[in-house]
Amino acid sequence: MLIVGAGPAGSVAAAVLARAGARVRLFDRSTFPREKLCGDTVNPGTLGVLRRLGLAASIEERGLRVDGMRVTGEHGVAIEGRYPRHLSGRAIMRRDLDWALLQQAIAAGAQFEPESAVRRALTDERGVAGITFGRHASEHEVRARVTIAADGRRSTIAFGLGLLRHPERPRRWAIGAYYENVAGASTLGEMHVRRGRYIGVAAVPGGLTNVCVVKPSRPGDAALRDPVALLRQELSRDADLRLRFADARLADPPVMLGPLAVEGTGAAIDGLLLAGDAAGFIDPMTGDGLRFAVRGGELAAAAALEALEHGWTGVHHRLAERRRAEFAGKWRFDRMLRALVGSPRAVEVAALGASVAPGVLRAIISRAGDCSVADVDYADSRL
Ligand SMILES: Cc1cc2nc3c(=O)[nH]c(=O)nc-3n(C[C@H](O)[C@H](O)[C@H](O)COP(=O)(O)OP(=O)(O)OC[C@H]3O[C@@H](n4cnc5c(N)ncnc54)[C@H](O)[C@@H]3O)c2cc1C
Repeated sequence: MLIVGAGPAGSVAAAVLARAGARVRLFDRSTFPREKLCGDTVNPGTLGVLRRLGLAASIEERGLRVDGMRVTGEHGVAIEGRYPRHLSGRAIMRRDLDWALLQQAIAAGAQFEPESAVRRALTDERGVAGITFGRHASEHEVRARVTIAADGRRSTIAFGLGLLRHPERPRRWAIGAYYENVAGASTLGEMHVRRGRYIGVAAVPGGLTNVCVVKPSRPGDAALRDPVALLRQELSRDADLRLRFADARLADPPVMLGPLAVEGTGAAIDGLLLAGDAAGFIDPMTGDGLRFAVRGGELAAAAALEALEHGWTGVHHRLAERRRAEFAGKWRFDRMLRALVGSPRAVEVAALGASVAPGVLRAIISRAGDCSVADVDYADSRL
């Protein structure tokens, strides 16, 4: 069994499969721990899935508690919503989160292959039969009955086989960095919605604050050429953030990603399963990519075991059905929330509505944080 990508989707799939007794080789082009641009917020639903899999302990211990969300709009509008009292998320740098998950996959028996950049899928008349990867300037081939592509939004495997594309819209880019010495930290994740863009802010361990600006853009956009200036401009033109970042310093140079959205074509090839962002990713605004990645990794692992045991007939169909049953409602909700939060005027109206009916806001924050998932104790039969 081959898994490409040791992010959350790949490591969770590897841990589940290795525990089930499969021989797993997990490839990543990087050595770990490695950095990854992200808002660094693990919502209660993600934490619930990891806890159920016995993979959450070090993340819960090391991460900062997140009790809900604060969404602000223009003209000083702010809405705060807390998760139900018994639930919380965690803020933890992806370097530490991904390393914690990978270490647990290795402890479960997966063989980790760092510095192995996968170049393409090997195919034969049955479908995908393995991969080629480069290491230390030489190329290697490895064959297996099942390959899981968990190599993220720019998946070499999925793009290479025409299974993923960048949709025309949205075309957004993200610019992210860590800052020291930011004032006003709280246990709420923050989303600051401004005309045409939004800014996520989260305190992470070590006295740092994660800032991600997401804005529409095109390759070659002059504003993207100087990410330090772009962040400075975004933080200083906002009255609330300007005060809080007045004495802040960049801890590291910013990182930039885009275009963010990728969507699957829906096609499937025997021998190959997709998990995490490699199966599609739209926009980080709703902060639940990690939930789709960890649960998607678990579902791909279950499908891989089925394929090994009974062959490929019906495997893709059943996996697609399970993903739809679990994710489609949340995808619809995310689309609705993105449309709502994407408009500064709508944030003002929502703030007004929240003051009249706070219960509605609590329900929305719970849904956004996948709280119902955190509460569910899945039976194995749901795999
Ligand atoms: C700006 C931004 C902010 C976000 N904030 C949040 C948030 O706060 N909360 C949340 O839940 N989600 C957030 N997300 C979404 C989240 O980051 C992703 O959904 C999540 O990382 C998906 O995990 P993954 O394992 O599928 O892919 P990744 O985490 O991208 O891991 C893919 C792995 O594959 C490896 N790889 C790639 N190509 C190859 C190759 N050719 N060969 C070998 N290895 C390869 C990479 O090195 C990497 O380790 C955010 C996303 C963005 C862009």
